[in-house]
Amino acid sequence: MSTSVLVINCGSSSIKYALVSERREDRIYGLAENLGSADARIKGITVGGAPLELSIPYADHEKALETLLGRLANYKPQAIGHRVVHGGTSTKAELLTPEIIEKIREATPLAPLHNPAHLVGIDATMRLFPELPQVAVFDTAFHQTMPAHAYRYALPKFLYTEHNVRRYGFHGTSHAYVSERGSELAGSFKQGGWLTAHLGNGSSTCAIWNGESVDTSMGLTPLEGIVMGTRSGDVDPSIHSFLASNLGWDIFKIDKMLNKESGLLGLSDNLSNDMRTLIEASEQGNEDATLAIEVFCYRLAKSLAALSCALPRLDGLFFTGGIGENSAYIREKTMAYLPHFGFKLNIEQNNTLKRGTEGRIDQGTGPQIWVIPTDEEGRIAKETEQVVEHAKKSESMVSFT
Ligand code: AMP
Repeated sequence: MSTSVLVINCGSSSIKYALVSERREDRIYGLAENLGSADARIKGITVGGAPLELSIPYADHEKALETLLGRLANYKPQAIGHRVVHGGTSTKAELLTPEIIEKIREATPLAPLHNPAHLVGIDATMRLFPELPQVAVFDTAFHQTMPAHAYRYALPKFLYTEHNVRRYGFHGTSHAYVSERGSELAGSFKQGGWLTAHLGNGSSTCAIWNGESVDTSMGLTPLEGIVMGTRSGDVDPSIHSFLASNLGWDIFKIDKMLNKESGLLGLSDNLSNDMRTLIEASEQGNEDATLAIEVFCYRLAKSLAALSCALPRLDGLFFTGGIGENSAYIREKTMAYLPHFGFKLNIEQNNTLKRGTEGRIDQGTGPQIWVIPTDEEGRIAKETEQVVEHAKKSESMVSFT
């Protein structure tokens, strides 16, 4: 392993990590979970693909990171890249300075579940590795190229100008990577009009023109848009007043229901938020599971059709994420709702693509359809390296002048 970047994604009680080197096959990755509890542990893959499982009772973020780095022995990173969900109006990855950390803090009201956890992680790595350059890579940054008519809500103007109420979009790292890789494979690197469908536990769609995001399904928060594992996606905003007036629910209960109890989980009457379980249940005749899948595919197709309005020309579509990469069934069902765009799925080819394989699945006429496995960690590592390189160059120029 030559140069390597430690990519960190901190949640409130978990840390996803990956040590990404230039040679992809050397990747070390895993998850520290249940932090702060007796059950805290690290589970992952270490050097040479060996499994790692370690109990770290009551470890906090800092202790977990310290343990982790201790285990990496000779594989010390040259830089750390933090995935940060909300970067406000930041348009690119940034070297972590007190000003940038303050910016992440200021964006907390826009991502109250995510940004405070990222700040805990940043605080811990700053104390543990003060000598390493550290970079924040924002999920929102890729979508900062959206035009105002895509990012503004039809709400009173002061909510935007004084309170930053606008559409931001998320999953930017994945949409950026997949559209870049996909358009490269299609022979039109970063050119033309493409749609991406990132379908995982959280899901979103994006329209990309000449390599830039021009619209996306998520908005002020990651709740807007298509159906997700436990998130509702779009609902009539009057649902808040309806539930408050008729059921006496307060705002916290409504918010929890929309974020944690809806989506596939809600539609399937609490059967599961996991698409695999729902497909199995549907095959066995479970009607709620069947409907949940149908709503998922229909609303996804509707979102893609709507986003096509953002593109002067439609060259094709990329599927990605746990569902998009693995489920030929969901891809086929979704494409069945989009025949009028000229999409023609190659059913046989579609059925062969699963488990991290990339490939083209259309019949060769009309817009292209591809499966492109996402690589958010790889993209974060690449952006981190670029920011660090750039900072080094600027530094040497300053000392030279
Ligand atoms: P992610 O958040 O990207 O890890 O994706 C998680 C989602 O991918 C879950 O809903 C899984 O059920 C789904 N998934 C993974 N493998 C398959 C598969 N073979 N068929 C259908 N869904 C899958």
